[in-house]
Amino acid sequence: MSIASLASTTIRRLEGKVAVITGGASGLGECTARTFVKHGAKVLIADIKDELGKFVSKDIGPEFSSFVHCDVSKEKDVENAVNAAISHFGKLDIMFNNAGIIEHPKPDILDNETSDFERVLSVNLVGAFLGTKHAARVMKPARRGSIITTASICSVVGGIASHAYTSSKHGVVGLMRNAAVELGQYGIRVNCVSPYGVATPLAKDFFKLDDVHGIYANLKGAILEPEDVAGAALYLGSDESKYVSGLNLILDGGFTITNSGFSMPGISESS
Ligand code: NAD
Repeated sequence: MSIASLASTTIRRLEGKVAVITGGASGLGECTARTFVKHGAKVLIADIKDELGKFVSKDIGPEFSSFVHCDVSKEKDVENAVNAAISHFGKLDIMFNNAGIIEHPKPDILDNETSDFERVLSVNLVGAFLGTKHAARVMKPARRGSIITTASICSVVGGIASHAYTSSKHGVVGLMRNAAVELGQYGIRVNCVSPYGVATPLAKDFFKLDDVHGIYANLKGAILEPEDVAGAALYLGSDESKYVSGLNLILDGGFTITNSGFSMPGISESS
């Protein structure tokens, strides 16, 4: 049974919608692509990992998904990905700017090379800018659309990742807010999702661990999984969030509002 027909037994929250998902070959993007299709959407996966992207797209089903090579730091590639969604599926309702890279932080800023900083910014921030720009190009005449960018808890706190990654994720929230202000007049909503650590190839590589669940987590008894991030993107892409724009939806179990240096009376270390 295909993913799409499996969902016929559930409420399909994206029926008839078309999405582009950058970084859709792996991790959070792949999970979101599968979730979107399950809910009635057609999805164009845009990624630099051609073999993996083609495999995922084929596995989802060619009638529901297609793959296009796209390096989000290159404007022509992003323009082409948006055009491919239109030519394959006829329109664009949801742009998910999700592609991202991370690098290992160097403790001393003096050791940080400008070229490394620019490389991270070119994917994480310029990529989101280009995705927002080219989605707006086709969404403005349609006078509707939802643009979502994957930020991170590093969009609101410092000291977790490198200067470049933290800057890029703070940057996408600024971009999202500015674009939400401008594009609201065309009925286009613009939002971010900001996950805490999720066990994807990116996070496992960053923490150098196979199991990244629960590292420094505040909330006990639950772990953040790719499906939770896909669920947040599903909400922001669907009409259920029809009046939500300019939001940075943080999925962190309260991590970013916790002062770990302060112990509240009655809360023990192990609770
Ligand atoms: P991942 O490595 O599994 O997936 C990232 C995907 O982006 C890969 O398929 C990769 O090929 C693609 N990609 C990388 N550079 C690209 C480029 N230039 N153009 C197009 N595609 C490119 O990692 P993930 O954890 O799924 O990351 C997805 C997003 O989530 C990233 O923006 C990341 O910063 C963000 N994020 C991840 C976590 C986490 O813990 N996993 C937490 C917060 C935010």
